[in-house]
This record gives sequence, structure tokens and C-alpha cells, in this order.
Amino acid sequence: MTRLVLVGPPGAGKGTQAEALSEQLRVPHISTGELFRAHVGQETPLGQEAKRYLDSGELVPDSVTNEMVRERLAEPDAKAGFLLDGFPRNTKQAEVLGEILGDADVSLDAVIQLQVPEDVVVARLMSRGRADDTEEVIRRRQQIYVSDTAPLLEYYADILVVVDGVGSVEEISGRVLKALRDRT
Ligand code: AMP
Repeated sequence: MTRLVLVGPPGAGKGTQAEALSEQLRVPHISTGELFRAHVGQETPLGQEAKRYLDSGELVPDSVTNEMVRERLAEPDAKAGFLLDGFPRNTKQAEVLGEILGDADVSLDAVIQLQVPEDVVVARLMSRGRADDTEEVIRRRQQIYVSDTAPLLEYYADILVVVDGVGSVEEISGRVLKALRDRT
């Protein structure tokens, strides 16, 4: 049970949960948002290309994103497992992830959906203060979640684990771990 994807709307607490879970499950936390922000901070060519998408809340083009993830998953620490946070964000990316894993003869164990009501999500985002947390960009990111990312819940229906994402960090990670254990 070590190859996992975390899905939920912006502000659902994916990053915080992913950190807690990666520690408990001893697998690397791979956040495409964090990878992009690191590139932007270091002003790499990839960062210069990605910046305008992050600033506007749009998705970085799949070609750029998929290659970055392919390289990250090829690193030794990801061989035995990983927790992906923020990838895939659409079904095209999910197909590419399937190919990357298929090439290595492995597959996802579960996709964890963090379920959080919209008012909680917006409140969390407004208090976070990240550069792309302005009201307009938040709204755009929520729209993209609904149109592009939510279809993944259907795509991954067979391996989907739905968890209530309201509560303390420990409560929620406890629920996720229990839900993963209870699965047969
Ligand atoms: P996050 O940290 O997951 O909220 O992501 C922040 C921003 O990074 C998003 O609004 C996108 O611009 C970009 N991003 C992160 N993950 C992806 C992805 N899988 N595909 C395309 N863009 C992404």
C-alpha cells in the first residue's frame, strides 16, 4: 500500500496531510506544486515557463508537468513507493502516470480523496497567504478542480478511498491510515 495519490480541491489540506502521511508510511512526498515553486524560486528555464501559470491559477501544460514527474519518479527514493500530491490533475496526466508506472511494472495502490466543504476550503486558502492565493486566482483554481481534476474521481473509482478532510491533522491522517488498512 505504498503508491498513493492524494486528490482534493485547492485548500483541502493535501500538502499538510501528504507530509504527515509520507512520514508515517515512509514514502517520499512528491508535490508538483512544490516542485514548480522550487523551479520558479531558482529561476530555472522550467520555472520561467511555469511561473505565469502558477500566478494565474492555470495548469502548467501537460508536456512540461508530465516530464517533470517522470524524472522525479525515476529517482531512487521513489522506487519503493511515493505519495503524489497535486498530480495527476486531469485524466491525460492520469494516463501518462499509468504509462510511467506500467513501464516499471507497478501500479497505484490507492487514490485518496480528501473531502472538504467549500466554505472550509476558501477559509483555509484565505488564511494561507501564498502568492497565488488572491481571490481571483483561488476562484480560477477551484473552477479548474471541478472541470479538469474532479473527473479523476470517476477515472480512479476502483481504487478510490474517500476520507473526511475536516478535523485536526492527526485526526485526518488517522482516518486515511485506517481507511487504507480497512481496504481489502
Ligand atoms: P498546488 O501547490 O498543488 O496548489 O499547485 C500550485 C500550482 O502549480 C497550480 O495552480 C498549477 O499552476 C501548478 N500545478 C501543480 N500541479 C500541477 C499539475 N499536476 N499540472 C499542472 N499544473 C500544476
